[in-house]
Amino acid sequence: MELKGTSIIGFNRGSSGNRTLTGFNPASGVALAPTFYAASAAEVDLAAKLAHQAFASFSRTSGKTRAKFLREIAENIEALGDVLVQRATQETGLPEGRIQSERGRTCNQLRLFADLIEEGSWVDARIDHSDPDRKPIPKPDVRSLLRPLGPVVVFGASNFPLAFSVAGGDTASALAGGNTVIVKAHHAHPGTSELVGLAVLEAVQSCDLPEGVFSLMYGSGNEVGTALVKHPLIKAGGFTGSRSGGRALFDAAVSRPEPIPFYAEMSSVNPVVILPGAIHDRSEQIAAGLAGSVTLGAGQFCTNPGLIFLAESDESRSFVEKLGALMSSSPEQTMLTQGISTTYKQSVAGRLQHRSVESVAATPAVQQSDGCGAKSALFLTSAEEFLANQELSEEVFGPSTLVVMYTTKEELLTLLDQLEGQLTATIHANDEDMNSSAGLLAALEAKVGRLVFNGFPTGVEVCHSMVHGGPYPATSDGRSTSVGTRAIFRFTRQVCYQDFPDGVLPDELKAGNPLGIWRLVDGQISKD
Ligand code: NAP
Repeated sequence: MELKGTSIIGFNRGSSGNRTLTGFNPASGVALAPTFYAASAAEVDLAAKLAHQAFASFSRTSGKTRAKFLREIAENIEALGDVLVQRATQETGLPEGRIQSERGRTCNQLRLFADLIEEGSWVDARIDHSDPDRKPIPKPDVRSLLRPLGPVVVFGASNFPLAFSVAGGDTASALAGGNTVIVKAHHAHPGTSELVGLAVLEAVQSCDLPEGVFSLMYGSGNEVGTALVKHPLIKAGGFTGSRSGGRALFDAAVSRPEPIPFYAEMSSVNPVVILPGAIHDRSEQIAAGLAGSVTLGAGQFCTNPGLIFLAESDESRSFVEKLGALMSSSPEQTMLTQGISTTYKQSVAGRLQHRSVESVAATPAVQQSDGCGAKSALFLTSAEEFLANQELSEEVFGPSTLVVMYTTKEELLTLLDQLEGQLTATIHANDEDMNSSAGLLAALEAKVGRLVFNGFPTGVEVCHSMVHGGPYPATSDGRSTSVGTRAIFRFTRQVCYQDFPDGVLPDELKAGNPLGIWRLVDGQISKD
């Protein structure tokens, strides 16, 4: 399939006269054809207007119609076959196997939302019948449900070219809920974005949905993304990336004349607490699992374990040596972009020079290749130094982690109390450890969206119960998840109908329950 390199604006393609960007193969440094063209201000405006117009009818389509649409997107993505796998591999340096499994996850995610909306109970329909005889005042008939917000802007993430990009989690949940979507493609995988964008466009057309349900925009620099977030017709946004980028876009979203919700997933160091009994019982096993988790995908996961808390002891010291040996022997890997690789090498250099940090396994940048390669790095510090140097708790995006040795249980609780919000926290413990760790679980639960027991945080299951979110700065809104079916709620709002005639109510709220969904009727869950 020949790529055009222009934005997809409704049913048409954008112009090719604007600022340009190019995909690069991070493994070879070679530029990949074609040249891509950034959308103009007029094209941003047109995409927003089309998305607004399409919302009027798309938001009123049935769950069945939208389920068919999501399934068609998944089928179209699968039909791209090796063309998509090869382009994504070239643009990201990620191995073919990883891209194939990410494609599977992306399509399963679309189908999971399709099942959810076809069944229909997700709208949380509630009915409180009237009581005209109630004293002192009659009770009205009150019914409510969740409705979509409007056009949503979704920022593709560099580290998940499929699952968190054009047809990724935010797009799937927004479309499932009845919102229209404009994706801002990530500059690191423009060709992958075009291929998936065309798969979505084909599904819009074959399902007879209105023009503007979906658009895909290219941008070079920050202009296009910022213009989309500030556009008055855009009603919400979703983002995964850097703290600076996420915060800038969040600030733009909330400082508009009409502020809008903006869900930014930004930075997380995902603390791992390994208690003494676990070190005693399973030292080898935990070291192997942790080394694998830190180095997986060159450490470019938002759930990468970047901080490890250990109680000071001989067993802990020998565990750190084991972990260091395993990480030193892990091969150099290719990172997603030159920028991400350079930032990683600078961060490792900063830790190597830090007077409060000991290097257990780290290769200075000068001994590494110039390109997008990354060698893993393990550092060690004390609780006292960690508490005194705030920069040690910041995310190093890549295959690196920092061990903090503490001396008492009280000191561990103080350390945890100082942490910023996180996506995950992990505990390795045996029964005795847990019985003697009062306050640990509560301290961690206050900081994170997902707690992992005797496992590792990388690998996020796409399911109904998953929570992939957490207090700031892990995300800009810790009440929401970007993974799993609960993500549909982020792009919805509650709407209430009072004393309406049955015939004009949405089907979900009609007396006869024509959709057969679960509803809360006078306080009781029911299908009646
Ligand atoms: P990024 O620089 O935050 O870019 C993500 C998206 O936001 C891109 O579309 C980018 O546009 C746009 N953007 C960034 N800053 C903006 C601003 N000030 N105004 C408007 N739009 C803006 O993230 P990245 O390129 O993926 O990686 C850079 C760093 O982010 C990494 O080194 C890492 O530290 C961090 N990161 C963290 C995670 C995580 O999950 N925690 C994931 C990925 C990256 P362009 O495409 O035009 O640049």
